[in-house]
Amino acid sequence: MKSKLLKLKKEFQAELEGVVDLRSLVDLKNKFLSRKRGLLTVALKEISLLPVEERPEIGKLANKVKGFMEKELTLRQRKLEAEEEARRIKEAQIDITIPGRLPPMGGLHPIMLVKEKMEKIFLELGYTVEDGPDIETDYYNFVALNFPKDHPARDSQATFLIDEELLLRTQTSPVQVRVMEKREPPIRIIVPGRCFRRDWDITHTPNFFQMEGLVVDEGITLGDLKGTLEYFVRQLFGKKTKARFRPSFFPFTEPSADLDISCFHCGGKGCRLCKSSGWIEILGAGMVHPNVFKVVGYDPERYSGFAWGMGIDRVALILYQIEDARLFYENDLRFLQQFREII
Ligand SMILES: [Zn+2]
Repeated sequence: MKSKLLKLKKEFQAELEGVVDLRSLVDLKNKFLSRKRGLLTVALKEISLLPVEERPEIGKLANKVKGFMEKELTLRQRKLEAEEEARRIKEAQIDITIPGRLPPMGGLHPIMLVKEKMEKIFLELGYTVEDGPDIETDYYNFVALNFPKDHPARDSQATFLIDEELLLRTQTSPVQVRVMEKREPPIRIIVPGRCFRRDWDITHTPNFFQMEGLVVDEGITLGDLKGTLEYFVRQLFGKKTKARFRPSFFPFTEPSADLDISCFHCGGKGCRLCKSSGWIEILGAGMVHPNVFKVVGYDPERYSGFAWGMGIDRVALILYQIEDARLFYENDLRFLQQFREII
């Protein structure tokens, strides 16, 4: 009996070594000490079967083994609980040195990126930004800009008509008239905005953006127009950009000109972007027609001014070297996500 108890103790010790968590500790406790089938419990019951004189010694030993087991189990339990606690604290710790996860960021549409860049150049020159309605009257979109009802230049506009009087503006120029009606010179404004024409091909979309500029004051000359626009294109396309003016026609300016820039891609040698000519047409401009001044009540003898207009979409196509303007309006994120920064 004595050796049986010592053997149980040894067995217990060996198994305790292998205990790695609280669950296996409970299993071990049950194996030796459970009330009914525990190995030591069963052994203790056998003591009553021993001869009376052997019982005190064996009983003492049995209690010692039992006490040993209980003590060892308690110590191991505390140790395991402490380890568990330490592990939980460690897991719950926040590592402030881990880089954060960035939520997906939106970005500006490429046309808006170009618009902002163009605006910035003129804002730095002291211009203000003006806005006007997308739905215009025939008067502001055409008549006041020297396009009479039967003027042939109206054909090229391919207008979305709403009724006899209302239409979707085909240009940002009506805002020039609206501003001049309300204000006296000096005027120095830009008008970026949405325009509409019935066009749909590789370089035209029914919805597009234009930027208009207008300067009116005493003594404004063609030299001011040239100087301003040459400065603008150098800021936008690079310091080495050359500008070339060609005679053109617009009903609301006289004289009128188209402005070409030297190709910033090939430096003027000729490439695909400039269609081998070395030049890219970028905007239309001219000195404000005296008839427009008369319409808004300015004295054409006292005031003179210049105006220009250009397609923001067109500038974006050229700057980003995109071949199809329709891509801007297809809302394909794979396309749009390529434009994250100001060019
Ligand atoms: Zn070129």
